[in-house]
Amino acid sequence: MSKSKVFLSDSVSTTEGPRVSLSSGATLRDAGIEIEKLLVSNPRGFCAGVEMAIKALVWMLRLCGPPVYCYHEIVHNRSVVQAFQKAGVVFVNDIADVPDGAPVMLSAHGSAPQVVEEAERRGGFVVDAVCPLVTKVHHEAKSRAARNFEIIYIGHKGHDEAVGTMAVAPEAMHLVESQSDLESLKLRSDREGVALLAQTTLSHFEWQDILETAKKRYDDLWLPGREDLCYATTNRQKAVIELAKRCDAILVVGSANSSNTNALVSVARSAGCSNTARIDSPAEIPADLLKGAATVGLTAGASCPESLVEEVIAYLAPSEVEELRIIDEDEYFPLPPKLRQALEERFGEVPDDRKRTAADALVELGDIAGAD
Ligand code: SF4
Repeated sequence: MSKSKVFLSDSVSTTEGPRVSLSSGATLRDAGIEIEKLLVSNPRGFCAGVEMAIKALVWMLRLCGPPVYCYHEIVHNRSVVQAFQKAGVVFVNDIADVPDGAPVMLSAHGSAPQVVEEAERRGGFVVDAVCPLVTKVHHEAKSRAARNFEIIYIGHKGHDEAVGTMAVAPEAMHLVESQSDLESLKLRSDREGVALLAQTTLSHFEWQDILETAKKRYDDLWLPGREDLCYATTNRQKAVIELAKRCDAILVVGSANSSNTNALVSVARSAGCSNTARIDSPAEIPADLLKGAATVGLTAGASCPESLVEEVIAYLAPSEVEELRIIDEDEYFPLPPKLRQALEERFGEVPDDRKRTAADALVELGDIAGAD
């Protein structure tokens, strides 16, 4: 683990989403609150799956022109979604709302097999931007169900990822959100075994507690070789635990419907920093939480753009900023094969996507919106 100074750009701006309603240049100091030290977590913000999905949707807009339909929010971040809406993306929660023949992208959270089939049936250009780490869980569910396993899936009822995964093998899967859900579960006795799968973005504490209970209850318990909680979830949570040890208060930037963001809040609190709050933008910073806090921690969920983090830092205007680096991430997920093929057909080659970040793509989105 290493600490390094954070470079802050002079002008903190974002091209996506609405401006914060704070008056220009206002800082927390104007409210009489001075932060001595800000510890900024690294890693934070965009993961490889979110990077891929955002870039993929911008390419869809470039290839097809607006309107492009997107089944579910491409990622769970308000400012990102609003930026895409402005550029001509129409988000739908029912695939039947996509007009026949219209281009449609399926979100990073993964879609039910029936949704994928229905999207294809409607005849337009369909690209599935599901994160490969969610696909891994879908495969586990499908293969264990085929082997006559009962599957316990730890997830949040109604979350897009959980809805999509549960639909992979509905006859075999049981959603649990808590240890008491698990304790009241009745499984078939003629099963081959019990598989324990999970939503990729859970809090590790939540997962661990249910895992321990499941181990006691089922002597035929099967676990995936590599756990379902993804690398981005794991790394951001490890980092926030370190923040919790050092900080008097922590801010987590991300949207209310972002599961991994909410998990960061709960992990920070469980790790001892009860003064932890989730904010979508500087306008939501609870000043009371920061009163008297000498050291404040800052992190961001996997769907939160860095530009929002920079806005928050600028508003906090701390005397000192330091980065708490836990691990370097270099994961990269290529664009979905169907999109790569379409790009090759259009441009004669697949553009070098590795060098282009989702932040770059969001800046281009501003151009697309402006040209519309
Ligand atoms: Fe994929 Fe994890 Fe990012 Fe979700 S949080 S999109 S599972 S890398």
